[in-house]
Amino acid sequence: MGEFDFITRYFQRTTTPTDPTHVQLGIGDDCALLAPSPGMSLAISTDMLLESRHFLPTIAPQRLGHKSLAVNLSDLAAMGAKPLAFTLSLALPRIDPAWCEDFAKGLFALADEHQCTLIGGDTTAGPLCISITVFGEIPHHLALRRSGAQAGDDIYVSHPIQSGIGDARLALETLRSQAHQSADAFEQTLQRMEQPTPRVALGMALRNIATSAIDLSDGLLGDLGHILKASRMGASIEVDSVPRSHALHNQPVAIQRLCTLSGGDDYELIFTAPIARRAQVLTAAHHCQLAVTPIGRIEMQPGVRLYDARGNHVSNSYHSFDHFKN
Ligand code: ADP
Ligand code: MG
Repeated sequence: MGEFDFITRYFQRTTTPTDPTHVQLGIGDDCALLAPSPGMSLAISTDMLLESRHFLPTIAPQRLGHKSLAVNLSDLAAMGAKPLAFTLSLALPRIDPAWCEDFAKGLFALADEHQCTLIGGDTTAGPLCISITVFGEIPHHLALRRSGAQAGDDIYVSHPIQSGIGDARLALETLRSQAHQSADAFEQTLQRMEQPTPRVALGMALRNIATSAIDLSDGLLGDLGHILKASRMGASIEVDSVPRSHALHNQPVAIQRLCTLSGGDDYELIFTAPIARRAQVLTAAHHCQLAVTPIGRIEMQPGVRLYDARGNHVSNSYHSFDHFKN
């Protein structure tokens, strides 16, 4: 199968259940044509996924298709933007029909859920690498930037009602034999690592409420650090208030803290909002069938101070993921 047959077969869909009103021209020409709604700015983000660096070779292709788009949609969510379309650039060692079918299945299931249309891409032979660019829209004055946090704001993280953050890292630590859990618990944490849910609806619901937001991809303290730097603020965090799944709660405290504070790959939102908007924050989360938990406060004093539930100082030796340091 040649390159063009490959694109037609797996990625050029003749019938698409998504709303194509923004897509004036899709796959097949030299460019796609995309029209955001009047008055909206385009929100654009790219994420690349490399085998063994961003995902393990053992990941099922359907989950990989999902994850590749999910991490990109998560960036739109963190900005409060509504997804419109995406491009897909693929380097594949060979065309394996079963693999491609499953990859496309996972990819399009999530795309359809968000009415996000595949409008183009590029394909080449090479070591497995997936690069997606997403296009969303948002009124520019409502975009949730990193720079808007104010002293006194609450700091929240989103999470599933019965769970928390840090599970993706727990799965990784379990694979590395640094943590131990039951087969059932492991499968649940593995699923959170391999099939994250981008919090698109929550991001949009927070447009008029949050002062800043970022998605959790490299670890809580590192990602919060980006908000603090952009906002020129500091923060206090109560480490024991960071929500944890049952599986993570069963781990030794050191593992719990490692996973929640410097784990990555959660793709939850961390955001700030004035205390006066607490009720609005909770209502927004409730409408999205999600929980949001306050974990600390923005302060004028630079740096991050960690406390446990008793108010004792916890030393901050946690660092987040950095491709050129780790
Ligand atoms: P060009 O040579 O002009 O870059 P290509 O031959 O790479 O065009 O691609 C032909 C068409 O197929 C273009 O519309 C391109 O956007 C689309 N395309 C290529 N690869 C992919 C892919 N992996 N997924 C979706 N569309 C793709
Ligand atoms: Mg090309």
